[in-house]
Amino acid sequence: MGAIKDIVDLTKDLKARAKERRDMDVIHKIQSLAFTLQSQHADIIERDVRLMEENAALKRQLEESNTEEIRIHCGIEFRRGKRTGGQWFGFCPQCHLPAADWPNGKGVGCSSSCDWSSSEAGSIAEAIRRMGP
Ligand SMILES: [Zn+2]
Repeated sequence: MGAIKDIVDLTKDLKARAKERRDMDVIHKIQSLAFTLQSQHADIIERDVRLMEENAALKRQLEESNTEEIRIHCGIEFRRGKRTGGQWFGFCPQCHLPAADWPNGKGVGCSSSCDWSSSEAGSIAEAIRRMGP
């Protein structure tokens, strides 16, 4: 905004020294352009403030919608939130990918290639039952 004010001030100086009508016309055009720029600049600043406020509100909303309730039970990390449809779901406590029941039904392990497993509960469903509401 300082540069536009400087242009306005300089044209005032120039106007005081102008001798011909042609010079005055050019100076008036420059002044008019400077005022237009000032007005556009104020609009842009106003829009910036509004967009920053909207952005902050959207960030808060996103943070709230991604929030999950987390519990550790029987060595399994349980999460409940939008991503799990509001239901408890078992996850690996090491890499946080979904947990899976062992094929023999006597434990739970990571569904990925990490080596985490737990035999504290026979299955994810059993651990959820034991965890309670
Ligand atoms: Zn894992």
